Amino acid sequence: MKFDVAILGAGAAGMFVALAAQARGLQVALIDPHAHRLNNFAISGGLFPAAGSSLQRAAGNADSPQAWLDDLRQFAPGMVNENIASAVAHALPLATDFLLQQCAAPLHFLPDMVAPGHSQLRFHCVVPASGAALHGWFREACAQYPRIRCLTEPAQVQRLDPGFELRVGSDRIQARQIVLAGGGFGANAEMVARFIPGMAGALHNGSPTQDGSTMALGIAWGAQLWGMDGYQGQGHTNPGGATRLGMSIPTLGGFLANRQGVRFVAEDIGPSALAPAVLAQAGGVALEVFDAAIEAQLGNHGAYQQAVKAGQVITAPDLASLAAQTQIDLPTLERTLEAVGTFATGQAHDPLRRQVFARVLAPPFKASWVTGALSHTQGGLLTCADGKVLDQQGQAIPNVFAVGGCAAGLSGRGADGYLPGNGLAQAFGLGWRLAQALT
Ligand SMILES: Cc1cc2nc3c(=O)[nH]c(=O)nc-3n(C[C@H](O)[C@H](O)[C@H](O)COP(=O)(O)OP(=O)(O)OC[C@H]3O[C@@H](n4cnc5c(N)ncnc54)[C@H](O)[C@@H]3O)c2cc1C
Repeated sequence: MKFDVAILGAGAAGMFVALAAQARGLQVALIDPHAHRLNNFAISGGLFPAAGSSLQRAAGNADSPQAWLDDLRQFAPGMVNENIASAVAHALPLATDFLLQQCAAPLHFLPDMVAPGHSQLRFHCVVPASGAALHGWFREACAQYPRIRCLTEPAQVQRLDPGFELRVGSDRIQARQIVLAGGGFGANAEMVARFIPGMAGALHNGSPTQDGSTMALGIAWGAQLWGMDGYQGQGHTNPGGATRLGMSIPTLGGFLANRQGVRFVAEDIGPSALAPAVLAQAGGVALEVFDAAIEAQLGNHGAYQQAVKAGQVITAPDLASLAAQTQIDLPTLERTLEAVGTFATGQAHDPLRRQVFARVLAPPFKASWVTGALSHTQGGLLTCADGKVLDQQGQAIPNVFAVGGCAAGLSGRGADGYLPGNGLAQAFGLGWRLAQALT
C-alpha cells in the first residue's frame, strides 16, 4: 500500500494532521497501536487558546495572535521556542476555522474559562469542556474520511532513500513522508530520571502511552533535541491522580494552605509551576480552599465536575467544619482566611506577592486536597516552523516531521514556563503548518 504520509500516533497532533492533510488531497496512513487506550488528548481538559479565531471575534473579544505571543513571552521569559512560537500563534485561528468550517467540529469559544498567564479569554473546546469528548469527535472524524486509513498495530519503520517502509501487522506500507506524533516521555521512567530528575518517581497523571518511542526514532535519525527538562506540572491534582480541579480556582479567588493551614505560594502562578510548590509541602499535599460562589462558575469545567463526582470536593457550612473535616488547626486557618480577605479588599499586600485575589471568600466553603503531578513533557525533537525535524546542524532531515509531545514544545524549563493550553496549541498550530508543508 502506498501513502503520501504515514503518521505515527493518533492523538491530538496526529489526528489533527491527518484531517488537515486529507483535506489537501493527501493519502494518509494513521497508525496507533494503543488506539484502545486513553492517550493524553483523551485525559486532557481539551482547552486550547486560539487568539483571533472567528468564534472569539463573534463573541466580541478583540484578541490577536500577537497578544497571545506577548503573554507567552511575558510568562516564560527567555524560555520560548522561537523556532515555532510565532508560526503557531498565527496558525491557531486558521486551524480552528479549518476544524469548524471544513470538518464541522462542534467547537465553541469559552467565555467563562479564565486562565493564569492569559490576559484575554481565549480558550476553545466542546461544551461542556472535556478532552475526552473532543478526542471522541476527532476519532470519529478521522474514521469518516476515505483518504485516512487507520491502523492499530505496532509499526516497524525502515528509512529508505527516499521515503519509508513500514510493517504494520501483516500490512507493508510505503510512505514518502513520516510524521512522528507519538507523544512525549512522561511515562518513561528512565527518560524522566535522565531529563527531569526533580520529577523522578513523582505522580504521572498523563497516559502510560507516553513512552518516548516515536521520539526515539527521530533521535536515531540524528535529530536535535530542545527543552528536555520542560514539563507541564499539575498542582491541582487530587491525590492518586485520577481527577483534578482544573486551573481556574485561584484566578477566581481561591487559595492553597498546607497541612498546617498556612499559605506557601502565590497560587495564580499557573497550574504547572504550582506542582513542585505543592510537592514541597508536608506529605506533598495542600488544601485548595474556595467557596460556593466560585464553584457556581465552574459548571462548564469538565475536570472540576469529574472531581466533584469522584467525591473529591468537601463542603463546609463554616470554617470550624472545614477545619474539623480536614484536621487543620482552626485558629491557623482562621488567620489565613482573614489575611486573604485583607489582600482581596486591598487593606494589605500579600507577602507571597500574589497580585489579584478576586473575591473575599464566604461560607459555605468548598475545599479539596491536591498534590503535584507530572502531566506531560515539553521537550522533544526540534523542528522548524513547518514541523520538519532538524538535525544537529539545524538542517531538515528529509521527509521527517514531528508534532505534539514528540516535538519540542512552545516554552519551558522545568515546570515554570508552561503557559496553560500550550500543549494543544502546539499540536494544532504546528500541526496546521506541518500539514500545509506536506507534499
Ligand atoms: C492531565 C492532563 C491535562 C491536560 N490538559 C490540557 C489542556 O486542557 N489543554 C492543553 O492544551 N493541553 C492539555 N494537556 C496536554 C495535551 O493533552 C497534550 O499536549 C496533547 O495531547 C499532545 O498531543 P499528542 O498527539 O502529542 O499526544 P497524545 O494525545 O497523547 O497522542 C499520542 C498518541 O501516540 C500514540 N503512540 C505512542 N507511541 C506510539 C508509537 N510508537 N507508534 C504509534 N503511535 C504511538 C499514543 O497511543 C497516543 O494515542 C493535558 C495533559 C494531561 C496529561
